[in-house]
Amino acid sequence: MKKDLALFNKIADRLLKTESEQPVATPIAPEELFNTLDISLKDTPASEAFFEETLEKLVLNTPRTATKLFFNQLFGGRNSKATLGDLLAVLLNNSMYTYKVAGPQVGIEKEILHKVCDIIGYAKDSDGTFAPGGSMSNFMAMVMARDAFNASIKNSGVSQKLTLYTSSESHYSIPKNAAFMGVGRDQVRYVETNEKGQMRPEKLEVAVKKDIANGFHPFFVNSTAGTTVLGAFDEIPPLSVICKAYNLWLHVDGAYCGSVIFSKKYKHLLNGLNQTDSFSFNAHKMLGTPLTCSIIITQHKKYLNDSFSNDAAYLYQTDGDDYNLGKTSIQCGRRNDALKLWTLWKSVGTKGLEKIVDNQFHLANVARNYIQNNPEYSLFSYEESISICFNYKNIPAQTLCTELYEKGKLMVGYGTFNNVQFIRLVTINSGNTETEILNFFQVLEEFVATNPSLHRREIFEQ
Ligand SMILES: *Cc1c(COP(=O)(O)O)cnc(C)c1O
Repeated sequence: MKKDLALFNKIADRLLKTESEQPVATPIAPEELFNTLDISLKDTPASEAFFEETLEKLVLNTPRTATKLFFNQLFGGRNSKATLGDLLAVLLNNSMYTYKVAGPQVGIEKEILHKVCDIIGYAKDSDGTFAPGGSMSNFMAMVMARDAFNASIKNSGVSQKLTLYTSSESHYSIPKNAAFMGVGRDQVRYVETNEKGQMRPEKLEVAVKKDIANGFHPFFVNSTAGTTVLGAFDEIPPLSVICKAYNLWLHVDGAYCGSVIFSKKYKHLLNGLNQTDSFSFNAHKMLGTPLTCSIIITQHKKYLNDSFSNDAAYLYQTDGDDYNLGKTSIQCGRRNDALKLWTLWKSVGTKGLEKIVDNQFHLANVARNYIQNNPEYSLFSYEESISICFNYKNIPAQTLCTELYEKGKLMVGYGTFNNVQFIRLVTINSGNTETEILNFFQVLEEFVATNPSLHRREIFEQ
């Protein structure tokens, strides 16, 4: 093991050096992949030297998500304390299902869950768990909602026509989960949004009433905290009034921006959160831990237990249910996703998490100001969002993003709202400063200036 740890350190050193010198890896075209790197698996072992060389080559040719030119996704950067925690979790290799096997790591997970419940003002009876990502957190919320609506479904199957509600700007995991659950994609009602991408509550109520009149059974509303494209926050209070009136479970999908709960300045975006039934957020997005670190909590511990516990005599042999986390999990064996958030949180305090979140909004303001002060750009974003959507010189966003990627200049993606396509710059890497954001625009402008064909293409594509 010592030898391989030394090799790890050697490769890690090379990677960090390369990342700072060349923040974007030259991409390998998929059809070239197997000719460029020796990925093939053989009957005979690779020689040690060849193994090391190949491994290093693989690492150095992998997209660099931690650098100052990666803006492509709703995650990015590298927090060293969180990375340390995750490396130790791998080394320890516990499974989080029982206290017998995970010991104090159970306490790490419970402390985080309790603290989060406390911060958002969830009642005493709340509890939660770590799920393998935001999509699965949403799935767990939907299952609890279904069982809260009708406790017999988990035994006898779905026989009623259940319907659920989410905004047209919400994440694709909602319809996917409806399919998994046997409720069906066709029973998902996409509620219209306003011009800022927030769900329109009056449209929600109309849809619910119409479904009831037609013999459907509404059971679940998903509210989004940070929509995938615009980073919009649905307003919770009017949704919770409707949910209470019609007895619907209200979940808040905060995978992207739920971490605003840690900021005094921005937690108002989730006003009313204490009136909801469940809430999830991804620490691997705004808080910058390694993937994946997704938390789902509910005010109703009972439903978490009812929906996810299964007796298993071979597994639960010691200690109380409260310490055997497998009782409230969607998985059986489960990796320790809590430790990386704990090492981060312990080292910087809740005040440090607040700084991380506030800095992302600061960087978003820097980007928005730059765009607003430069007539060659058009802006499609609103205040209080860390997704900065824009176009430059009317160049088609898809073309520009793809060229920037293929030429190894920078990584940024595009999105669409109201049939307009634009570049989406995500200021989620809290390791960045104003300098890196301004550098982003400089790299983009220089690339356009030296590639006049981009303008010509604009004419062809119109
Ligand atoms: C990222 C995201 C998800 C999915 O989370 P995963 O961890 O990728 O499964 C769900 N909802 C929203 C709003 C997201 O931004």
